[in-house]
Amino acid sequence: MAENRTEVSTVGEFGLIDHLTKNIEITNASTIVGVGDDAAVIDHFGKQTVITNDLLVEGVHFDLMYTPLKHLGYKSVVVNLSDIYAMNATPTQILLGLAFSNRFSVEALDEFYEGVYAACNYYGVDLIGGDTTTSQKGFLISCTAIGEVTPDKYVRRSGAQQRDLLCVSGDLGAAYLGLTLLEREKQIFLESPSVQPDLEGEKYIIGRILKPEARKDIIQFFSDRDVMPTAMMDISDGLSSEILHICKQSNVGCVLYEDKLPIAEETREAAFKFNLDPTACALSGGEDYELLFTIKQEDYDTIKENDAISVIGYMTEPEKGAHIYTKGGNTFPLTAQGWNAFK
Ligand code: ADP
Ligand code: MG
Repeated sequence: MAENRTEVSTVGEFGLIDHLTKNIEITNASTIVGVGDDAAVIDHFGKQTVITNDLLVEGVHFDLMYTPLKHLGYKSVVVNLSDIYAMNATPTQILLGLAFSNRFSVEALDEFYEGVYAACNYYGVDLIGGDTTTSQKGFLISCTAIGEVTPDKYVRRSGAQQRDLLCVSGDLGAAYLGLTLLEREKQIFLESPSVQPDLEGEKYIIGRILKPEARKDIIQFFSDRDVMPTAMMDISDGLSSEILHICKQSNVGCVLYEDKLPIAEETREAAFKFNLDPTACALSGGEDYELLFTIKQEDYDTIKENDAISVIGYMTEPEKGAHIYTKGGNTFPLTAQGWNAFK
């Protein structure tokens, strides 16, 4: 760590911004003016514009003891793009606001930006601006993502209808178990620093927490196959909490089937080791960044051709509320035990 440490104070704020942004190559026609002026200019040429922002705070949303800066940079972008995809839109630009203490060197910020640019590259978005300032303590990241959508093709949380099918992409619960494992290893390390962490065989769950991906492929599939979900959102707080949002905002109820929940084998095994119920992890874990959406029944034949999509239930009259039908044949009301930032 000690070798090759450049203090941010030696390059100055403008020198740092220039250093971090000098290799940007604009890839979207919608980016008219990028980094370097007082503001960026974008033109979505007749499309509608979708915007979202997320704030990530060290010690609250991430722990640098087990989060590599490059992964953090990648994830800071991905969690924002996930919100753009959740509107059925395509992300085109991001802005990145950073605050950091003098604990962070130019080299550390370079590592963070390596992850940022890797995500920009992979998802085809331009970094068009941001802000850079100091903090007394810790690292704060504010990311804004901008996207485009064909007029009125955006999908809100409020459009689900009775008898629509409830669907989810990918698999659930792995990120929560990855986080549980990393937290456990951290405690072991703090108590006895000589013990090397044993993370072999846990690559999948750790990857799901440290390097999540946004479901660009699902939005592409909808567009290719002419499917328009009736409601959609991404799963950041946990499946059950997100389902309750859709039910409330769409004024519908829902039945969810436990045996339909997509849970990876690696997740089941990890849950078993930690003495946790895989279903509880899938329902309340959070940070999955999968898409939760509802479709009309007539779209079922199209949806079932995509292996990355599972139908997990259906929407009902609002009076029936939201329930889960368990493998044992019992029915329980769904509760929002999604991760709560204010807990
Ligand atoms: P101002 O003082 O007018 O806010 P800045 O000096 O903060 O301008 O920013 C100069 C340019 O660099 C702007 O285009 C801004 O969007 C961009 N910028 C500032 N910080 C960052 C950053 N961390 N990442 C990317 N671009 C940045
Ligand atoms: Mg500024």
